[in-house]
Amino acid sequence: MSDRSKGLLLAGVGGQGVILASMIVADALVRAGNDVKQSEVHGMAQRGGSVVSHIRWGPRVSSPLAPKGSAEVLAAFEWAEGLRWIDYVRPGGAVVVDVRTIIPPGACVDRRGWATAYPRIDDGPIADRRLQPRLLNAAAIASGLGNVRAANSVILGSVAGFLDIDDQYWEAAISSLVPKGTAEINLAAFRAGKEAGTVVIPAQPAPEATGVAGPHVIEVKHDWCKACDICSRVCPEYCLALTLDGKLAVVDPDACTGCRLCEILCPDFAIRIHPPVVAGVAAGEGAS
Ligand code: SF4
Ligand code: SF4
Repeated sequence: MSDRSKGLLLAGVGGQGVILASMIVADALVRAGNDVKQSEVHGMAQRGGSVVSHIRWGPRVSSPLAPKGSAEVLAAFEWAEGLRWIDYVRPGGAVVVDVRTIIPPGACVDRRGWATAYPRIDDGPIADRRLQPRLLNAAAIASGLGNVRAANSVILGSVAGFLDIDDQYWEAAISSLVPKGTAEINLAAFRAGKEAGTVVIPAQPAPEATGVAGPHVIEVKHDWCKACDICSRVCPEYCLALTLDGKLAVVDPDACTGCRLCEILCPDFAIRIHPPVVAGVAAGEGAS
């Protein structure tokens, strides 16, 4: 039996909210009157592992998985994850990708100089496949609205531009599924994502702090930290630890090399690494 369903993939890494974003898309599609099937694949979701969710919808859907070369849209919340799943998009389909980079620990080839093996940001792979590109700096847009955590709604707003779903269904899905008290900012981010139509090719990130060894300044935002213990487990220098009362503590600040693994892998933006304090320059100045 022929299946006239369409497909969409959402991809990112653990802690980015891919599953919630997928639930919002699926809910909007159901509200719009579609039969919807959704599937999730996630490995080390709590450790920055790859997470992907397939969604298929239409009058009647028989399988939740979108075959390679069939998806209408790939929504990627991280650059390398976008490249990982790009071959699932159909010819002429769209790739909405956040230019955010989350470099996995395994890609760090020199943690003191912070040299990494990671794909450069370049829309060539999208253009080569003749796909419609939408590169976004979603975090910057969300930050401009007042909350960087609404970045995923920026991506969803851009995705909405490629799907035939009335905004009322998107907005109802967002309002019903995002954490309590965040509907307003997420709706604003969604609308901003719809307007962010210009393709942005970002400048290549500088090889930050290359050649600068520690000690760096470790800033922990305790109000945001949920004590998940990711940062202390990935820190190669054992600078961080959870205390017996369940709070994150900086136990050896002098050993910090500034590799930023903790900052990159923290799902809650709760830890930042600033360059070493030098004479006449306050800690944190010049930090990205
Ligand atoms: S700083 Fe981030 S990664 Fe570390 S324990 Fe807190 S929430 Fe988890
Ligand atoms: S505290 Fe963070 S930046 Fe410093 S060495 Fe540990 S993981 Fe790297």
